[in-house]
Amino acid sequence: MFKDKSGFQTFKSLLAEPNPHLRPEDPFMRDDQLREECGVFGIFNHQDAAAITALGLHALQHRGQEAAGIVSFDGNQFQAERRMGLVGDNFNKRNIIERLEGKNAVGHVRYSTTGDTVMRNVQPLFAEHSSGGFAICHNGNLTNAVTQRRDLIRDGAIFQSTSDTEVLLHLLARSKRRTFIERFTEAVLQIEGAFAIACLTNKKLVGVRDPLGIRPLLLGKLGDSWVLASETCAFDIVGAEFVREVENGEIVVITEEGIESYHPFQKLNERPCIFEYIYFARPDSIVGGKSVYEVRKRMGEQLAIEAPADADVIIPIPDSGVPAAIGYAATSNIPFELGIIRNHYVGRTFIEPEQQIRQLGVKLKHSANKAMVAGKRVVLIDDSVVRGTTSVKLVSMMYEAGAKEVHMRISSPPITHPDFYGIDTPDQGKLLAANYDIEGMRKYMGADSLAFISVDGIYRAMGYTKRDDEHPQFTDHCFTGDYPTRLTDLLSEEEPHPSLLAEVF
Ligand code: AMP
Repeated sequence: MFKDKSGFQTFKSLLAEPNPHLRPEDPFMRDDQLREECGVFGIFNHQDAAAITALGLHALQHRGQEAAGIVSFDGNQFQAERRMGLVGDNFNKRNIIERLEGKNAVGHVRYSTTGDTVMRNVQPLFAEHSSGGFAICHNGNLTNAVTQRRDLIRDGAIFQSTSDTEVLLHLLARSKRRTFIERFTEAVLQIEGAFAIACLTNKKLVGVRDPLGIRPLLLGKLGDSWVLASETCAFDIVGAEFVREVENGEIVVITEEGIESYHPFQKLNERPCIFEYIYFARPDSIVGGKSVYEVRKRMGEQLAIEAPADADVIIPIPDSGVPAAIGYAATSNIPFELGIIRNHYVGRTFIEPEQQIRQLGVKLKHSANKAMVAGKRVVLIDDSVVRGTTSVKLVSMMYEAGAKEVHMRISSPPITHPDFYGIDTPDQGKLLAANYDIEGMRKYMGADSLAFISVDGIYRAMGYTKRDDEHPQFTDHCFTGDYPTRLTDLLSEEEPHPSLLAEVF
């Protein structure tokens, strides 16, 4: 363990000293609220606030498909609608949108476990405070939520959900500061980890990003209305104009008087999550001023330079592998073909938590386009290998379709470390690259060859010369083990509160 230049402790060998009280088999560790992927949206001062929010969430659907919610404020009262399932299946009904009256709204799409038992965790979370109603939407994970929660419960707090986000509601309620902004600031200064948050009060739309800016949050304008969203694709769908990113460590406060900005955190270099570029964000989004699509294509080009293959055809694993495969094919001068067709009516493979069902999910999701595969030496391109399920299935699918050779190329480095900042990666034991070297993974997948882009290669695709250990620019611990924040819960010596160790609902 050492301190990096930012003053944060980093944990190169995190798993050498795990918290003995946090075990992967514990129900709350399995529960996805600790590992969620999410998208947030907010709008201030628009006649059709709820309808616009529903559209914004629809554009952000790739960030979470299991639940969605919107809270609006009509000048008098807050209205809330939360549903399991897709935005388009739930927020298309006129009566639901009509119930969400008012000119201000926030919304959230969420990835979580299935079943009605998690309804309490569906965001926006809402509470009445001394200063009025408060609705919150959070993308990211707090790395001290368990510790904070335990302390708050000891102090008499009654939690309504098992979501890490709820901690912020309690911290806000307990602050003795005078104004809302002072109370809100005091609360966010006590949380750690990754947070891109949009929240709504009686008078304000507020956005905040963690000091490293791990998860994205953007500010836009739609006529006279201000908009907050996780990605630019949510602006595009409603015709909003991108104004700027909320800065790392910035709080933006939007009121009828305009917009104010606060920087309460110690100033740090930003370290956005590299996975937004690799997998998470929609390819047509602009993240950190860079086109996600172009970055992914450059990752493919770089991969072709680092790991060429003697082959007849480049085939992407759709959809996530497509831009990298285009880049790989262009650089290697080998034809690009859609040799795997994806059924778009099946959700992402990660949605089903059990291995057995995940495997079934892969079969349901992809099929071989035999005409493009039979008799050929195939290069399969994917953006990442997590558990290896997708690669194993698709390599054998290529052979069954008559491929002569199958060469696997991955446009991100091997994922050796789990994430604690809001991406659904399993515990380290289930990460393929944490268990095998490259040759072991190749055998596991059954491919003729396997190669990953290097860590420096990823930085090159991002426009840098290499990963500089002195000044790392991205949150990339999944490949490097360099966790950029304290992991307070993981390293805590104390047991979490029993409410987190039992199936409480
Ligand atoms: P696996 O099959 O477990 O190796 O997972 C790799 C596949 O999952 C790749 O095709 C990725 O595009 C996709 N993937 C990577 N990260 C995630 C994530 N956080 N959520 C859902 N899918 C992912």
